[in-house]
Amino acid sequence: VAAATLALTSAACGSSEKTTDKQNPSGTAGALIGVTMPTRSSQRWIGDGENVKRELEALGYKVDLQYGEDDIPTQVNQIDNQITRGAKLLIIAAIDGKAMTTQLQNAADNKIPVIAYDRLIRNSPNVDYYATFDNYKVGIQQANSLLTGLNLVNADGTPGTAKGPFNVELFAGSPDDNNATFFYNGAMSVLKPYLDRGVLKVPSKQLDFRSIAILRWQARTAQDRMENLLTSTYRSGLKVDGVLSPYDGLSIGILSALRSNGYGTGGRAYPVVTGQDSETASVKSIIAGEQYSTIFKDYRDLAKTSAQMADAILRGQKPATNNDKDYDNGVKVVPSMLLNTSIVNKGNYAKVLLDSGFYTRAQLR
Ligand code: BGC
Repeated sequence: VAAATLALTSAACGSSEKTTDKQNPSGTAGALIGVTMPTRSSQRWIGDGENVKRELEALGYKVDLQYGEDDIPTQVNQIDNQITRGAKLLIIAAIDGKAMTTQLQNAADNKIPVIAYDRLIRNSPNVDYYATFDNYKVGIQQANSLLTGLNLVNADGTPGTAKGPFNVELFAGSPDDNNATFFYNGAMSVLKPYLDRGVLKVPSKQLDFRSIAILRWQARTAQDRMENLLTSTYRSGLKVDGVLSPYDGLSIGILSALRSNGYGTGGRAYPVVTGQDSETASVKSIIAGEQYSTIFKDYRDLAKTSAQMADAILRGQKPATNNDKDYDNGVKVVPSMLLNTSIVNKGNYAKVLLDSGFYTRAQLR
C-alpha cells in the first residue's frame, strides 16, 4: 500500500515521469517481457532463465519466465499466454525451432518483437534478432578436444605423439534444434580428414547426422544407444577410444553405459568423452578423470546480451550484432550476436571456471 501511494504521489507531481524519462526515454519502463526456456532438466537452462530475468529486471522490466519442460504444446501455450497478457517483447529459447510459426505471426500482428535465445527459430519471418554462441565453433572445439584427448594433436595444434588408428563413436544433438547441426558440421569439419585417412575409425559406421542424433537431447536415449553399440559392434572385444558427445547430459549417459560394460574399472580407462555446457556433474566427472572435456559457454554474458538487445529494441534503437550471414532460418537471415566459448578439461578447469567466478570451488566438490 505504501509503495502504491508513493507511486501515485510522485506520478501526480510529475517526478517519477522525469526519472523514467532519463532511464528509459521511450517510456517502456515496467513493460512486460515474456521469456520462455526449454527445460529445467538441464542446469544450464535454469541458469539462463534466472540470469535473463535478473538482467531484464535490473533494466526496469517486468518478466514472465516460463519453462516448457521439453513439451512443445506447453511452450506454445506459454507464448500465447504471454501475448495475451500484453508482453511487449518475447525472448524465446525454442524446444522445437519449427513449431511456433503461428505464435510468432500472432506476435508480429501485435507488433511484439521476438529475440531467439541460444537456439534459432526457423521457418518464420517474425524473428527479429538472435543472441547465441558461435555454435559452429563449439563443434570445432569439441572435435579438437577429442583429438587432443587421443594425443593426435597437442593443445597448441601441433601433431601429437599418437598415430592411431582409434575407434570412435559419434553422437549429435536433437534434430529439431538448429544448433545441433551447427555443432555436428563444425565437428565434422575437423574430424573428416582423420576419418578419410583412417586415423579415426567409426566401427558402427554410423556417421551421418540422422543416425547419430539424439531427440530432445535425452541422456537416457544416448545411454541406450551407447549400450547398443557396445553390445553389437564392440562385442568381440574391440575397444572404444573416443566418443564425440555434444552435451554434458549425453556424456553422463554415455559414460554410464561404458561403466556398465567394464570401462573405468580394473585398469580399463574410459575413452575420451567430450561434452558441452560445463554442468556441475560433468565438471566433477572431469576432475575425477572420467569425462575428458566440456565447453564453457558463459551464459551470464548471453543473458546480458539478450537483455541489452531487448532494451535497445524497445527504445527504438538498433541492437548490436556481429553476424548477419550465418543464421538463415529458412525464410530470412536473422541478425545475430555470437559469443565466444572455450574448451574445458582437467588441466584448465580452475582457470576457466573458478577464476571467472562461474563456479566456486565448493560447488565442484
Ligand atoms: C544448446 C547447448 C545445450 C543443448 C542441450 C543447445 O541448444 O546450445 O548449450 O547443450 O541445447 O540443452
